[in-house]
Amino acid sequence: MSRLQTMARFDERIPEPTMIGKCKGCGEIITASEEFFDHEGEFVHDEFDCIREYFKKIADLVQ
Ligand SMILES: [Zn+2]
Repeated sequence: MSRLQTMARFDERIPEPTMIGKCKGCGEIITASEEFFDHEGEFVHDEFDCIREYFKKIADLVQ
């Protein structure tokens, strides 16, 4: 059930999406059809969760 839903995402219009690199936030592949940031050669999805995860890795958490 969930597998069919997952596969459907890749079945839309681009047969072979260009891979940009691995997201430093979620760890998944970023393709050229997605929006992403290139921060000094490191790629992060333009998603709140990805940016947050990435920022937590590069910055110190002050409580
Ligand atoms: Zn991501």
